[in-house]
Amino acid sequence: MSIIVQKYGGTSVATTERIQAVADRIVRTREAGHDVVVVVSAMGDTTDELLRMAHEIADRPEPRELDMLLTAGERIAMSLLAIAVCARGCRAASYTGSQAGIITDTHHGAAKIIEIRPKRIIESLETGNVVIVAGFQGLSTSYDITTLGRGGSDTTAVALAAALDAEVCEIYTDVDGVFTADPRVVPEARKLDRITYEEMLELAAAGAKVLQSRSVEYARRHDVRVHVRSSFHDGPGTWVVKEEEMEVGMEAPLISGVALDVTEAKITFDEVPDRPGIAAKLFRAVADQGVNVDMIVQNVSHEGRTDMSFTVPRDDVVKIKAALDDIAHEVGAVRFSVDEDIAKVSLVGAGMKSHPGVAADMFEAIAAEGINIEMISTSPIRVSCVVRAADGERAARAIHRKFGLQG
Ligand code: ASP
Ligand code: MG
Repeated sequence: MSIIVQKYGGTSVATTERIQAVADRIVRTREAGHDVVVVVSAMGDTTDELLRMAHEIADRPEPRELDMLLTAGERIAMSLLAIAVCARGCRAASYTGSQAGIITDTHHGAAKIIEIRPKRIIESLETGNVVIVAGFQGLSTSYDITTLGRGGSDTTAVALAAALDAEVCEIYTDVDGVFTADPRVVPEARKLDRITYEEMLELAAAGAKVLQSRSVEYARRHDVRVHVRSSFHDGPGTWVVKEEEMEVGMEAPLISGVALDVTEAKITFDEVPDRPGIAAKLFRAVADQGVNVDMIVQNVSHEGRTDMSFTVPRDDVVKIKAALDDIAHEVGAVRFSVDEDIAKVSLVGAGMKSHPGVAADMFEAIAAEGINIEMISTSPIRVSCVVRAADGERAARAIHRKFGLQG
């Protein structure tokens, strides 16, 4: 029998009514003759609530205990859902990540899945159960409970789909699929029927919140077919596919979408000495705090000194402030500043590899709005610009219009 993996996000199981609607859908899928493995997130804002409580008690809660705490959210959702499915006369059993054989490394709060031992799940399916697995968690190689990072249930679902060789991994959410832009920012945004893994990865990294980046990487590596769709109706959503599949019978679209990210901060070091080893020192100091750097811009030097700017997640600024003070002193930078008032707007499309002028069109759209670009970075299929935070939404709408993405 073919296996379908279905993942339901926090909003899809936010209340007992929603949980029952999800149970109805699961039973329908089962009745259509599929084996069903379900992955659930915690109900609504449970994870945020649990985090808030921990931080009320301590500034830096022990990572091990935080993981133990957060995984409780998914446990509540999975057992309630199993109860709901059973109440419909359909057999179901729920399992924690650990019980489901999800083995991770020991990195609390952002553990990586290193192996899946699906024996127990397969046996449970064979006895006729719908299998319900708690998302976002696993058991580390040193037998502690770990979590996979925020939004990690997507990765649980994709990893299980790969391990079980499932026909499809369906990601149910509160939107209809992947859009050309966030409809709250760009009202004329349009749902995409398909998008490539690469584009989805770039969009996720550029701030689109539909799928956790790591889940897309996992899906690409293991060839998992992913269908992002609404939990509120049966209409088709967006398929995440290989580039080859994109071109079957149609020309790949030039641009897939525009993303806006308002979660980063810009850090600028003024007048650092321009000599070998300075960038290495600076970014090593940031990396040692476990912080990811996104964009980096170094200016042309004048009189042996140069300015250097980079962006990091705004929430991580506090973590690196002390290290930045030290490093500014050590490398002899004149000063450094933190600017939290920025937005990053990105344009993503596999077609830009073979189309000159995409960046120029994007910059023209921004210029026509009288908006200044402060930083630029690119990949083969993405162009990103940093602008003032207050200009971000207007820039996103202008770019969306310029490329005719409303369809
Ligand atoms: N509940 C976790 C979170 O809120 C995992 C998830 O939703 O995927 O990040
Ligand atoms: Mg969640």
